[in-house]
Amino acid sequence: MATAQNTGLLFLVSAPSGAGKSSLVHALIESDPRVHLSISFTTRGIRPGEADGRDYNFISLEEFEQRKQRGEFLEWAFVHGNYYGTNKLWIEKELSAGHDVMLEIDWQGAFQVKKIFPGVISTFILPPSIETLKQRLVGRGTDAPEVIAKRLSGAGAEIVHAPQFDYVIINRDFDQAARELQSIVAAARLRFSQQKMRNRELFSRLGVPG
Ligand code: 5GP
Repeated sequence: MATAQNTGLLFLVSAPSGAGKSSLVHALIESDPRVHLSISFTTRGIRPGEADGRDYNFISLEEFEQRKQRGEFLEWAFVHGNYYGTNKLWIEKELSAGHDVMLEIDWQGAFQVKKIFPGVISTFILPPSIETLKQRLVGRGTDAPEVIAKRLSGAGAEIVHAPQFDYVIINRDFDQAARELQSIVAAARLRFSQQKMRNRELFSRLGVPG
């Protein structure tokens, strides 16, 4: 397996449902095409406005099982009653091509990825309040009331894992939070090892050791 050291950077973002994670990640991808977003596989039903292959690869439980058994997932988890998994081959190819990759996964997946890629840069997104989470889940109008209730009751279970992440963004103001996510990516690229990898010739011309 490729390591994060000689390749592109691997980022991941987790958050309770409704914290604004997807919108923040999409703002990042739009502003920075060098970050490639991983499209997960899921057994969840498609929501209005979603597209197969763009938001997720929507697959049956049977196909998920088969892919899991073939070892195709970098990580997988059961979240809010559905299975989700990350495409291992795609991640490996992207990283070894030198692309930066963003995963949008839950805390269980985050822990699995950290074991495989200790260099992963992880960010947890917190809402300013539980009330805001509720308003966002109801406001987006894509989930049934019982689904919203399940996601809200799962929020606390997700939030208790926040201390294990490298960075925390509190999504009070969307633009500010989006800038903060961009800053995390920018700072990671400025690390010595990354700068050296991306500017080998310059480093050697300047005689930078290491
Ligand atoms: P949603 O159904 O709202 O799109 O996502 C529900 C939860 O599943 C979110 O916390 C999301 O980050 C997580 N999720 C999405 N894709 C994956 C994945 O590939 N692996 C894991 N572990 N979680 C995922």
